[in-house]
Amino acid sequence: SSGTANLAPTQTAGGEEAITSPVQPAGDDRIKIGFSMDTLLEERWLKDRDQFQAAVEALGAEVVIMASNGDDAVQIMQAEQMISEGVDLLVVVPHNAEATAAIVKKAHSAGIKVMAYDRLIKNSEVDLYVSFDNELVGMMQAVAITELVPKGKYVYIGGAETDNNAHLFKKGVFNVLQPFIDNGDIQVVYDQWSKDWTPASAKANMEAALQANGNQIDAVIAANDATAGGVIEALAAQGLAGRIPVAGMDADLAAAQRIVAGTQTMTVYKPIGALTQKAAELAVMLAQGKDPGADRKVNNGKIEVPSVLLSPIAVDKLNLDATIIADGFHSRQDVYRYL
Ligand code: BGC
Repeated sequence: SSGTANLAPTQTAGGEEAITSPVQPAGDDRIKIGFSMDTLLEERWLKDRDQFQAAVEALGAEVVIMASNGDDAVQIMQAEQMISEGVDLLVVVPHNAEATAAIVKKAHSAGIKVMAYDRLIKNSEVDLYVSFDNELVGMMQAVAITELVPKGKYVYIGGAETDNNAHLFKKGVFNVLQPFIDNGDIQVVYDQWSKDWTPASAKANMEAALQANGNQIDAVIAANDATAGGVIEALAAQGLAGRIPVAGMDADLAAAQRIVAGTQTMTVYKPIGALTQKAAELAVMLAQGKDPGADRKVNNGKIEVPSVLLSPIAVDKLNLDATIIADGFHSRQDVYRYL
């Protein structure tokens, strides 16, 4: 099997026990990449971890992985540790888009380049950003839901305000909704961030939205599948699950199952394997001092960051099989388990 089998137990906030690839013989001069992750407490990031490690190792390089479980100070401390251990490059999934600028500064003063992975690091001179087209993710959600509900009361349940992606997803959603809002067909009656992307925060938001509107809500767009799960719990408590369209994102297994069951309308699939492969190739190039040849530029408040943005895929009941199942992202058996 892949590199996952020999991993040490999941990193905790203390940061002492890094998850590393198997020890190399002394004198090994392979490239060493540090992967600083926000969290491993959500389904997708376990895939990112395992597949990034496998992709880097397949390229003949080595990876050290640490996760801070949502603690900014811990994430910075772990990055410092990897810098002092002599990694050749840092790949960072920032918990906090602003706070992690400190990591870029520290890495640069040690002569180490930094790649922002999936989430942008703001107001920094980060060297490369590799992600999906996150505005397009939001647009896909809103296109799918407005096709079903072209008029009515909408709720937007956002992601974590500290994550730049949450802002991009929301921007994409409102790009599509704006003409409907302007002509009076759609009213956004509730719009809140969900603290740290948690289902509990999303659920509390949805309860507030239902209460403020006497349950008269026509559609919900949630920033990801974890928050959509919280939304659907709140709807279920009012007997409304399956009666109100809900959009999510990530193609989490639970979301795919909810799509089959009819309580969630759609999700947006971001092929993690494509992201880890691209990120691993570009990380090795950057570490070797080569030009990664990024084709896009994304402004992070300080510079135009060279960026590579992959394409997301809208998924509903009709194309579940042709997308996430055909790709092996989830097995058919798992997705249809509760049918
Ligand atoms: C990622 C999503 C994920 C969310 C919560 C975002 O930055 O792009 O895929 O669901 O963080 O972890």
